[in-house]
Amino acid sequence: MAKRVVIVGIPGVGKTTVVRKVVETMKKKNIDVESVVYGTVMFEEAKKLGINHRDDIRKLPIDEQRKLQIEAAEKIAKMEKDFLIIDTHLMINTKEGYWPGLPIDVLRVLSPTNIILIEALPNEIFMRRKRDVGRFRDFVDEEEIKREIEIARSMLSATGIILGIPFLIVMNRENYIEETANQILKALGVL
Ligand code: ATP
Ligand code: AMP
Ligand code: MG
Repeated sequence: MAKRVVIVGIPGVGKTTVVRKVVETMKKKNIDVESVVYGTVMFEEAKKLGINHRDDIRKLPIDEQRKLQIEAAEKIAKMEKDFLIIDTHLMINTKEGYWPGLPIDVLRVLSPTNIILIEALPNEIFMRRKRDVGRFRDFVDEEEIKREIEIARSMLSATGIILGIPFLIVMNRENYIEETANQILKALGVL
């Protein structure tokens, strides 16, 4: 059966980096795999609203983000692959508070078979955000990063319950990108 794997984790934890590695390994094994960055699909439409950077999407009014969010889910749901890996977020930090990246209607449209939360140590996430100069991530202290990690865990289990699918937490240790990718590949039965 085809797998649709949703990869989540707080900003700067390493989702896109790890997904790249997972896809590279699968392609070497001639697996029919594709990854999609949910935020890129949203950004393509957001440009029409005058948004010039992916990190400005979360500053739009919630109703506009909501429209972009559901449109992106519908586009992504049309992608047919043996393995579709969706790089996205459980929650978005907006000025009105944390906003769910995977509300129930979006989950139902995407209909994932697996959800995987990537974690890392708070101080490592802090440094990754700081080092990554191409992005405009919110600069919060380590305490706030710890809170984000806790909220992400509770949203992860809610997602598992809603859809009745397995959920997994993997640790993306500093400079161990390949090991993190391998944990995911093992869970998906590829390694
Ligand atoms: P966002 O949610 O904002 O898109 P992300 O979770 O996709 O973030 P990445 O862009 O993949 O995060 O990674 C953030 C930064 O951390 C990048 O500079 C990346 O090279 C670095 N990084 C990712 N994983 C590791 C790791 N295991 N060790 C060291 N650096 C890492
Ligand atoms: P990323 O490159 O993963 O950080 O994605 C860029 C931006 O896209 C995020 O900061 C969010 O504003 C938006 N985004 C990504 N995934 C979702 C989602 N599931 N729901 C709402 N917004 C999202
Ligand atoms: Mg990313």
